[in-house]
Amino acid sequence: MIYNIYGKTGLRVSAVGFGGMRFDLKQSQQANADLLRYAVDQGITYLDTAPGYCEDQSEDIFGLAISQMADQRENLYVSTKGMPEEFDTADKAIAQIDKSLTRLNTDYIDFYHVWCIRRWKEYELAMKPGGQYDGLLKCKEQGKIKHIVVSTHLRGPEVQDLVSNNEFEGVLLGVNILNFLYRWEGVQAAHKAGLGVVAMNPLAGGIIPQSEESLAFLAGEGETPTQAALRFCISCPEITITLNGFTTKEHVDMACNVADKATPFTDADIERIRGHVTDKMDKLCTGCGYCMGRCPVDIPVSNFMQYYNEKLLMNKTEEEMVKQLDFQQKWLLLADRKANAADCIQCGRCEMACTQHLDIVRRLEEMAGWEKMLENSQQKD
Ligand code: SF4
Ligand code: SF4
Repeated sequence: MIYNIYGKTGLRVSAVGFGGMRFDLKQSQQANADLLRYAVDQGITYLDTAPGYCEDQSEDIFGLAISQMADQRENLYVSTKGMPEEFDTADKAIAQIDKSLTRLNTDYIDFYHVWCIRRWKEYELAMKPGGQYDGLLKCKEQGKIKHIVVSTHLRGPEVQDLVSNNEFEGVLLGVNILNFLYRWEGVQAAHKAGLGVVAMNPLAGGIIPQSEESLAFLAGEGETPTQAALRFCISCPEITITLNGFTTKEHVDMACNVADKATPFTDADIERIRGHVTDKMDKLCTGCGYCMGRCPVDIPVSNFMQYYNEKLLMNKTEEEMVKQLDFQQKWLLLADRKANAADCIQCGRCEMACTQHLDIVRRLEEMAGWEKMLENSQQKD
């Protein structure tokens, strides 16, 4: 494992972080806690969770593992989060931190995130007098949290504004080998301002391992596209920690192996990738699920958007997408849907929630056209 200094905090943290959003819930909490302890045994010291992750079990799994590693607590960096929209007063923010401390079985949280700033008004909400940030400052004074950090889906210039006021010691950003050309400004701004920079979604929410064939151009000699994607973030001097959502020991091993030999991308590597990456790669659905459960007509927005990824990633034609729709509806992402793309009433709630700022309504309109084409072709058959 390699270790990096987390911005101005001076803390030495593992370059690979354990992301607690992809536990296998078919396994027991103890089995998942064992996975976390296994990762720590491999040298991972940065452990990131949040309320709500994994059907709200992630913090409890972390708490179980932490109670079983009490003798190692001072070498570990535990991170969790709270959203300004939900905890919009200092009192609510403090109560939430107390809850996380209990669930995590710990007396302090190392890194506490103002979570999921998608729009500037969410930052303003967090910072209003008597708001979440004031609550975090109180908790910091009391030693309940050590460092106040932020997670954001804002783009370049806004990230620059976000990090310019010395309010945060680190920032968690969605950056990876497919979208870095469009997200780099934010990474550089945070790095220059002396913040720790944590990369989330290094595998684009699982898109890279699932699409290795069409993304073969990412890989250097002797590595897979997935390994290349991990190497890209782990070896990047501007990125302090690369968060990986682990499900199995094999996932942990792969990330640790990459970190053991991580050689940074050369200019030639970057040029090779630049030749293939278009702004379409900045518009992929990462499957984060923040849009789910909000649709008044029960459209499974994330599933539709992940199906749409195929058009962006593989340049599929309309005809190919219609053919794939049939398959998706019968067997895959859309098999359990309660509503079709054509049912969208364009209320915009899903777009407000989308971390990637996707034009969901327009895409659903396009997909409604494909639904119609599929229906017509089925009637002819
Ligand atoms: S815009 Fe359409 S898909 Fe999105 S929440 Fe509203 S009805 Fe549902
Ligand atoms: S549509 Fe947006 S919010 Fe929903 S899963 Fe995809 S990226 Fe996440």
